[in-house]
Amino acid sequence: MTDTQTAPTGTLFADAIGRLDKAGKIAGLDPEVVELLRHPKAVIHISIPVRMDDGSLKVFEGYRVRHNSHRGPTKGGIRYHPGVSLDEVKALAFWMTCKCAVVGIPFGGGKGGVTVDPRELSHMELERLSRGFIQQVADFIGPDVDIPAPDVYTNARIMGWMMDEFSKIKRQHSPAVITGKPIPLGGSLGRDDATGRGAYYCIKELEKQRGWDPTQITVAVQGFGNGGQNAVKLLHTDGYKVVAVSDSKGGIYKADGFDVPSLIQFKNQSRKLKAVYCDGSVCEAIQAESISNEQLLELDVDVLIPAALENQITTDNAANIKAKVIVEVANGPTTPDADTSLAQRGTLVIPDILANAGGVTVSYFEWVQNRQGFYWPVEEVRERLDKIMRDEFNAVYDLMEQHKTDMRTAAYAHALKRIGDAVEAGGTQRYFTEAN
Ligand code: GLU
Repeated sequence: MTDTQTAPTGTLFADAIGRLDKAGKIAGLDPEVVELLRHPKAVIHISIPVRMDDGSLKVFEGYRVRHNSHRGPTKGGIRYHPGVSLDEVKALAFWMTCKCAVVGIPFGGGKGGVTVDPRELSHMELERLSRGFIQQVADFIGPDVDIPAPDVYTNARIMGWMMDEFSKIKRQHSPAVITGKPIPLGGSLGRDDATGRGAYYCIKELEKQRGWDPTQITVAVQGFGNGGQNAVKLLHTDGYKVVAVSDSKGGIYKADGFDVPSLIQFKNQSRKLKAVYCDGSVCEAIQAESISNEQLLELDVDVLIPAALENQITTDNAANIKAKVIVEVANGPTTPDADTSLAQRGTLVIPDILANAGGVTVSYFEWVQNRQGFYWPVEEVRERLDKIMRDEFNAVYDLMEQHKTDMRTAAYAHALKRIGDAVEAGGTQRYFTEAN
């Protein structure tokens, strides 16, 4: 089957798997492995009827995709967003397969989503939707099968509801079915800031490579959710100058840098007490110039951190991007065509499947702790995350230099080698024809 039969070109999934061929050659992959990865293992499309607070019934569309399980059970978040589609969830599941392999954790890739704007739901409607999602996918997930986690607009509280619903259905306490849970319900210490922290460790390794003085390095972050906030919080502590920040409502710029803890406090203060979602926006912060999300991406900064949604850096704006380094905390923020343009200008892109892998890495630690029934101190979680992120960053960086390629291709090659080893251990055509 050809690529185009799997998904028409131009879709997010087709664009995502389009990156396989180049990296597959570098990894010396058997073509069978690339062919396998072009097809998700299983896809489920569900509808979730939810009784709304006014008594009416609304039906939401949802998906769960298990992309590949050669290296272990499938793993990946559940997204609540009005833009969720099957094509997007398939691409996100594929990226999870590659991400887990880049950092060498024993999972394949999966992803889920519901097409909904969760900010329009009451907390009780949100709970009913989350429990309804699990009722529909309960036979499709499980601690040894497929393990969800938070993603865009889902959080620890939602993971707690989902774990509880699954446990009720199975009549068995099942904390390892989902990660990113609240700590009292079996969550791991250090999972909350793990995505941003993982990106921070990558930047610290690059700092060594480039001999940076952090106080001279300017940073702009697009998206001030969990990943973006925590990455710049740690960078700010080390003296990096965070000059621009944005969220979905707009952005702010300050040439001499923001006091990041105050910005975070501002964003959190404007939340209703115990609210599930933030009502405030960073663009309401005082004493800063307002900028748009588009302007933020084109600022003359050293490090640009896209930490929002996919397809932000495209052929429309790639030529105007002035940052020397892009650290992809979001999944899929750069389109393949934009990649080519950035590579030509020598922009280093630390790709999503490496830069944001800290989240799933600590999810793995959470799953291990749930299965052991033995919980680790936060220092142990961070120490283990630190080692994995720095080792894998350096392995990818070396591969990039060795093959004179871009860092994304090197990260895919690094991941594909691990996936390929798992597939080949079961035998490919080479083995079966040689044996006869
Ligand atoms: N949603 C996160 C990601 O895209 C975390 C996934 C997980 O922890 O399983 O990597």
